[in-house]
Amino acid sequence: MTATSRALVLFSGGQDSTTCLAWALSRYAQVETIGFDYGQRHAIELSMRPILLEKIRAFSSEWDGKLGEDHVIDLSLISKISQTAMTEDIEIEMQANGLPNTFVPGRNLLFMTVAATVAYRRGLDVLVGGMCETDFSGYPDCRDDTMKALQVALNLGMATSLKLETPLMWIDKAATWTLAQSLGGTALVNLIREDTHTCYLGERGTLHDWGYGCGTCPACALRARGYGEFANITLPL
Ligand code: ZN
Repeated sequence: MTATSRALVLFSGGQDSTTCLAWALSRYAQVETIGFDYGQRHAIELSMRPILLEKIRAFSSEWDGKLGEDHVIDLSLISKISQTAMTEDIEIEMQANGLPNTFVPGRNLLFMTVAATVAYRRGLDVLVGGMCETDFSGYPDCRDDTMKALQVALNLGMATSLKLETPLMWIDKAATWTLAQSLGGTALVNLIREDTHTCYLGERGTLHDWGYGCGTCPACALRARGYGEFANITLPL
């Protein structure tokens, strides 16, 4: 880890990737962001990205100086080649293989590969993603071994020495809030609470203690439980 490294953060506009962005801004010389438009059922997460980036810039002059270009990539082909509850208007449910139907097969592999291509072009040497093995929904492409294997494959295939960093890999949602607190204090926690979006249903009507969302989908439940543990409060869920 060097202060001269230049990083590309996979930035969706959710809690995890915003925490990863703050993490990267606290340690790398320059940070760019990349987001993917893949026909998400609710594009609200994508629409929060520019607002969040603006607020992150306003948050610290040091971070403002480090934060570079934002890349939004059209990956609408994902919704053409897969049929999941993330891209189709179907109920979220568990499948026979033990994975929820929100799982988009190979999505993180594709995201990292496209990010590596952009990093190659931009001369960036670190890719940062919010993959997490601790309290994920069992998504196999969030696993540490998947990311390590992909790092090897990308570097072999592109003759590079890219580093894939996943700062949230071994921490739970409560610890993700604690990490945000340590990186930017209560102000950053509040920014993440109010301006990041995680809800699978795209609900942003009511501001709960843990942020906006329906409160019942798996993403909201995970976020609310983590915030409750972090803030040491019991939430009505
Ligand atoms: Zn929700």
